[in-house]
Amino acid sequence: MHEGILRNTRTGAALLASEPHFISPEGDLLDLEFEPFFDLNAIARRKPNLWRYREALPIILDENIVSVNEGFTPLLPLNFLGNQVWVKQEQLFSTGSYKDRGASVLMSKIKSLGIKHVVQDSSGNAGCAIAAYAAMAGISCEIYVPATTSSSKIRQIEAYGAQIRLIEGSREQTAEAARVASKSSYYASHSVNPYFFQGTKTFAYEICEQMGWKVPETLVLPAGNGTLILGSWIGFNDLMRAGITDRLPTIIAIQAESCCPLVHAFDQTPMPDVTTTIAKGIAIENPVRAAQILEAVRSTHGFFMPVTESEIMESHRECGLHGFYIEPTAAATIAGVKKYLNNYAPASLVTLFSGHGLKK
Ligand SMILES: *Cc1c(COP(=O)(O)O)cnc(C)c1O
Repeated sequence: MHEGILRNTRTGAALLASEPHFISPEGDLLDLEFEPFFDLNAIARRKPNLWRYREALPIILDENIVSVNEGFTPLLPLNFLGNQVWVKQEQLFSTGSYKDRGASVLMSKIKSLGIKHVVQDSSGNAGCAIAAYAAMAGISCEIYVPATTSSSKIRQIEAYGAQIRLIEGSREQTAEAARVASKSSYYASHSVNPYFFQGTKTFAYEICEQMGWKVPETLVLPAGNGTLILGSWIGFNDLMRAGITDRLPTIIAIQAESCCPLVHAFDQTPMPDVTTTIAKGIAIENPVRAAQILEAVRSTHGFFMPVTESEIMESHRECGLHGFYIEPTAAATIAGVKKYLNNYAPASLVTLFSGHGLKK
């Protein structure tokens, strides 16, 4: 096993992965360069969780793995508008969203580094996942959240024993407060820390394995901070480089029209004022990895698509009537699927329920 190297995304300088870097000394974003290995026969014999891709995850010692058998969520065929689509059941994770993928791998890395205290900022689900996995690892944790965060998510974070730091102000001001705190602590950020994406990439591995090591034509994903878009992009590229697949799925990225900076950046149109949305989990005005997200989607020949509040509410209601209770943020992606299928007829389309309805 090896642990890869950390690469400064601006200067190209390398940093040791054995050192506790989450951002470069100059303040630039880091990516992890890590060559994964896949033994498809060994993988098929392992337990159905995301650690079945053991040699593709950048953690050296098994004893540092922080896991509760998360992952390998069902990929269900469901019907939308007369089209069959595959919906990965990412609302079924222990904390109620797919953020557990990132949290499991990131917290395992943090444990490997011997770190005892972390800070993080979140509008909800990422905070829940980091708090839960910190609790499992016996690592103390402070989560910065905007004062407008739903009280059920705050209660959930507190239930894991994390300290809540309520910030009166925007999501951006909350992130800034956590960044200041991270100067004297380790920043377990889902948007900044490169190891979080080493967990979300398993979403791609699982889809590919569940489809018989094939790649779907289209992947419809939410776009907030892009943790799933960038994770999927890493994962599908890993599989292609390993010679297991020969192409990438086209990524269609969904934002709420009320807050869709990436739609406008991609289309090079001016961004209107942000208004409130029920899809709070993807209402990110300034995604720190915006340039990477735009480039990832572009490289798959995909695009960004906004959905309106009434489309989100309609999809939320419809999912319930099909027997699926998801949070409004998750319904935005499904609204995007419906909109996409009005104009396109992909041979295969994969999407997800990103978060559980019981915690909104
Ligand atoms: C985090 C999250 C998203 C969006 O993910 P980003 O990584 O911010 O792009 C979508 N749905 C739910 C339920 C989430 O928790």
